[in-house]
This record gives sequence, structure tokens and C-alpha cells, in this order.
Amino acid sequence: MLRVGLGYDIHRLIAGRPLILGGRHIPYGKGLLGHSDGDCLVHAVIDAILGALALGDIGQHFPDTDPRYKDAASLPLLEEVVVRMQNEGYAIGNVDIVVIAQEPKLAPHYPGIIASLKEVLRCAERQISVKSKTHERIGPLGAGEAIASFAVCTLQKMSQAIPIRAQA
Ligand code: MG
Repeated sequence: MLRVGLGYDIHRLIAGRPLILGGRHIPYGKGLLGHSDGDCLVHAVIDAILGALALGDIGQHFPDTDPRYKDAASLPLLEEVVVRMQNEGYAIGNVDIVVIAQEPKLAPHYPGIIASLKEVLRCAERQISVKSKTHERIGPLGAGEAIASFAVCTLQKMSQAIPIRAQA
């Protein structure tokens, strides 16, 4: 059985914050504003997996009113969602991610981002695709006021666990 999920997220870019995407620090003069580390790439992947499981969204699982998630790294949140996914009997089929960033150039960081994600998603590199686009200088994304991400994932149902037999 196959399930598909879609995630989207956007965070404002401001001076004085580190830019974290896919759990990696990307050298740049600005970073993403958010209650957590603002990692819109990871947030989109979280929402894609939760969407595939029909388990709501990131805001329900990790409310931004909860002080535990203030400046929280987002990869551990993704890890919690992956554990939930596995408990539901699913594994990652594939994940495809698009980041919309007028700046900086992200292509040099794809290998590092994929290396981080494959550990947390418990899958192989070949199951993860990361791409990025500028916004052709159109609108707030094109003016570099924010970075957005889309993610789509498929989840595969694993074979049934062997039921534990009662002692004879
Ligand atoms: Mg977010």
C-alpha cells in the first residue's frame, strides 16, 4: 500500500539569525525567523509525512506556543515524526523537495542536506531529491524577504508484523 503526502512552509528572512535548511547551517548574512530554527525545508517534509499518514500538521504536533520548541532544532522534530510513521507500519518510499530561495545558491549544499535527511528518514540517498529555484525576483520571495519549501513524499506499508503467540 502506498500513501502520498504534500507539505509546504515559508519563513521570513531576517538579519542576525543563522540560516538552517535541511538541518545544515548555510553561510549567509540572514536567517529564517521562527519560533523554532525556522527550517522551512524540514518543516515541509514533516508536513508531507504527517499528510501521508493523515495525522494533521506540524502545528498540532509541535505548537509554536510551547516553550519547548523555542529555537528548537527541527531535525529532531522530524525524527519524532519518523518514529510515529514507523509505529504506524510505514517506511519512506521517496521524498522530493523544492526550496524557493532568491539567495543564496543552495546547489552546493544538496549533498550535505541529503546526508542529514537520510539518517533521520532512515532511507537511502537515492530516495531523497532536493532542488531549488529562485523566484525570478517576483514578489516577496523574489525580493529575498522569505524562503519557502515544498515537499512531497510517498510512504510504503511494510509487511505485517508477526503476531506474538501466547505461550502454550
Ligand atoms: Mg515552519
